[in-house]
Amino acid sequence: MRQRLGALLRRAIPAALFVLAGFWADDRGAFAGLNDQIGDARAALVPRDASGEVVVVAIDAASLQAVGVWPWSRRVHADLLTRLTAAGPRDVLFDIDFSFAADPAGDRAFAAALDASGVAYLAGFVQRAAPGSPAITTNLPLPAFAERAWLAAVNVVPDADGAVRHYPYAVEIDGATVPSAGSLLAGAYVGSLDAFPLNLSIRPGSISTVSAIDVLEGRVPPETFAGRSVVVGATAVELGDQISLPIHGVQPGPVVHVLAAEALAHGAVPVTLRPGLVLLALFGAMLAFQTFGLRRPVAGLVLLAVSLGAAEAAALSAYASAAILVPTAPVYPVLGAFVLWQLVGKILASAWTIRRQAAEIRDTAALLGTVFEDSSDAIIVVAAGGEVLRHSRSARQLLHCDGQDRTALPDPLRRHAEALLNGQLPAGDGRRCCEVACAGRTRLLDVTGSLSMAAGAGGDRTTPRPIVTPSVRDVTVERQQAERIAFLSDHDETTGALRRHAFLDRLGSRLEAGTPAAVFVLRLRGVESVNSLLGRDVGDELLARVARRLETSEPGVPAVARLGGKSFAVLSGAPLDAPAADRLAQRLLEDIEEPFSSLGIAVSVGASVGYTVRPAGAASTAAEVLNQAEAATQIAEANRLARPMLYDPALADRQLRARRIEREMAAGLDRQEFEVVYQPQHRVADGALVGSEALLRWTSPCLGPVRPDEFIPIAESTGFIADLGRWVLRRALRDMRNLPGHLSVAVNVSAAQMGHGTLMADISDALSDAGVPASRLWLELTETVLLDGSGGLVETMSDIRFRGVRWALDDFGTGYSSMAYLSRLPIDKIKLDRAFVAGLGDDPAALPVLRAINGLCRSLDLPLLCEGVENDEHLAVLRAHGCAEAQGFLFARPLSLPDFIAHARACGADPAADGGRARGAT
Ligand code: C2E
Ligand code: CA
Ligand code: CA
Repeated sequence: MRQRLGALLRRAIPAALFVLAGFWADDRGAFAGLNDQIGDARAALVPRDASGEVVVVAIDAASLQAVGVWPWSRRVHADLLTRLTAAGPRDVLFDIDFSFAADPAGDRAFAAALDASGVAYLAGFVQRAAPGSPAITTNLPLPAFAERAWLAAVNVVPDADGAVRHYPYAVEIDGATVPSAGSLLAGAYVGSLDAFPLNLSIRPGSISTVSAIDVLEGRVPPETFAGRSVVVGATAVELGDQISLPIHGVQPGPVVHVLAAEALAHGAVPVTLRPGLVLLALFGAMLAFQTFGLRRPVAGLVLLAVSLGAAEAAALSAYASAAILVPTAPVYPVLGAFVLWQLVGKILASAWTIRRQAAEIRDTAALLGTVFEDSSDAIIVVAAGGEVLRHSRSARQLLHCDGQDRTALPDPLRRHAEALLNGQLPAGDGRRCCEVACAGRTRLLDVTGSLSMAAGAGGDRTTPRPIVTPSVRDVTVERQQAERIAFLSDHDETTGALRRHAFLDRLGSRLEAGTPAAVFVLRLRGVESVNSLLGRDVGDELLARVARRLETSEPGVPAVARLGGKSFAVLSGAPLDAPAADRLAQRLLEDIEEPFSSLGIAVSVGASVGYTVRPAGAASTAAEVLNQAEAATQIAEANRLARPMLYDPALADRQLRARRIEREMAAGLDRQEFEVVYQPQHRVADGALVGSEALLRWTSPCLGPVRPDEFIPIAESTGFIADLGRWVLRRALRDMRNLPGHLSVAVNVSAAQMGHGTLMADISDALSDAGVPASRLWLELTETVLLDGSGGLVETMSDIRFRGVRWALDDFGTGYSSMAYLSRLPIDKIKLDRAFVAGLGDDPAALPVLRAINGLCRSLDLPLLCEGVENDEHLAVLRAHGCAEAQGFLFARPLSLPDFIAHARACGADPAADGGRARGAT
């Protein structure tokens, strides 16, 4: 609402300003002339006849001729007046100059006629002494006449254009207000010096006129004048009393007086309206034009013209019916100026809009052109027949087509464009990939295109014609990268072999097809040395060569994978039974072991090979089959097998358990799952307790009790035995503080511990930690370790022995130590393996062996301890042969510390009495 009001105000203000300007100009008479002209025109359009109440007696050419002289003798006027008076007129007005004296007789006669008449008016007037002179002369009838008649002013004042439009009510003559001839004739004297407009629609020709000579000669019937006003005046041109009227031209003075009298007498004096009403209507018209007309200027102008016509017709009708003069003059210039102003404004605004739009179109075209030209995708505009209308810069660069050769579009692109143009491609399927030779190189192009209709595409700006705009992108590099990425997602970058998942996919498809499958896993040895000696690059190259050899080892190997750092898997292409698979495995191994000579230097590597054969139809997954081959390889590697290893489920189970034990042991030591038990050692001669052997026990929460025979070798293989051995030493020596000082403890030591290098330090720490003398500690080492052992072993033993700790040779008899060898070892006791004791009862060969070993010990001066003494018979034999010590279930099973303390007490040793002494003795 407020907006509409604002808009109306914006329109109303200029219209109002124009109207005000109209008022202002009108006030200064700017439109007076035009108003007069319009008034004249209206009068001409609605002519009317005079009422006939005034008759003109014309002193015309005929009268002049008949009388023969001018001025006439006043006798002629007297005769004329007498004749007229006799007809009984209302009044008689002489529009004749009686201001000068003529022949006295005539003058007397006229004075007498005036006396007799009593209804005569005589003309008086003022005029300039000379044209342009300010001096005024007054023409009045001679006093002799004036005394006998009424005075009538016959002055009229012409407008600037020389035409007379106004007529005075009265004229001031010699200081007196003299009624005008017209006022007197109309009998409507108002005593005002103002002038009123003549009603020009009264036709002068309709005024009844008779010739003066006709009256003088009695040819006019007296009824012509009875009751009417009569004007006697000159109409002859030569007499000069001629007045110029608008539309009617030059008329005799008497006619003008009659016209004035007619208007006054019949209320036909034109009344001019104030311009306010007109200007208000004009304001409305302007507002309407501005509101509605400007939208369609021609219709607006026509409507405006019609409205003006209607208004003028109404004004005419007002003039015709009520002599109302509507001053429409301001309408034309003001409205014209306003409309012109509006139209010019509109034209200027349109011109500005057009210029702005043209600039916008130019800018948009320039922008689109730049976007088109600089588009990273190559864009081509193709019309029917493969005609290339435009290329973007990248199109020219990519396709090497110069702007001149308009048909030089590579064949695949042209075919694609034509297919689009001919509607041969379904909607939305405008995308193609095609290979195009560009500047001698094959590029892969991704082309998208769509069909459109465009005018101006080929010179003709009006008729749209079909075009296609293929947008071409060079995806060669992108595609190569995608292929490389896809390749790398399935292949190992270093060797080009498959990755594990891809290998499993191939194997899986083969298993799904129910085909028998043999999978080989090779774990290389010696790669680390190649890496460290020759550099990683050579190492990588070596791995790649290995992969190539594996791929070519058998015709049609479907898959070779690199499983990890130095592990490769091979899937056999042919269905193989176990022996054939073994042969292939052997060949793979031989292939790998063949030196790689092309690396600049001949490089040899070894491999552990494991494989598995899955018979046709067996239910196992690809992952399971590969795991089997890997497990076999692990076993081959762990056992340093020189030949391929076929997967064995039982072995694998053991391996699995070994791995679990390996994992659990480390955690178990922290969680204090280990404990040490003590098996008593007694003197054979008197059965006295001399010491104990410390034996490890482990109860895992998930595996249950695990025998040392099982977990010790695993700990040895992983090196964990060093931690475990250190812990046993500490535990056993600490426990010894609770036992009498004469009791020793024997702790088992593994070969792995000997090689570790920390044994000596561990022993010293454990001894000082427990505060137990070294003499109470024995270390047991198996005979087989000594036989395999390296040179450093004996030195280590000697160093430890030097510290006061003594060595027992464990499991004697399982190896084949010679007497000469034994004599060089730093040992203090020999423990005969329990296998020899076990045979004492029933094996006839056992006794001679015992005797021989006993003899050996005596000759080396080493005490012999026999293990595995389970019954009295065993003991009796040992005693009979002078064996020094014995250990076995006959005396006690391995005992927990409290049980062992109890056992010691039962054997007569008092731990409480002796323990403190033992501790203090360190
Ligand atoms: P070993 O050193 O020969 O230990 C003696 C084994 O014979 C013990 O088995 C013991 O329980 C068993 N034994 C003792 N008396 C008899 C008997 O009268 N008859 C029979 N049949 N067996 C008897 P255990 O405790 O199972 O130990 C097995 C092996 O584990 C040990 O053989 C030893 O080589 C190793 N071992 C045990 N504890 C440790 C340890 O702390 N460190 C190291 N390195 N090895 C240990
Ligand atoms: Ca032992
Ligand atoms: Ca033993």
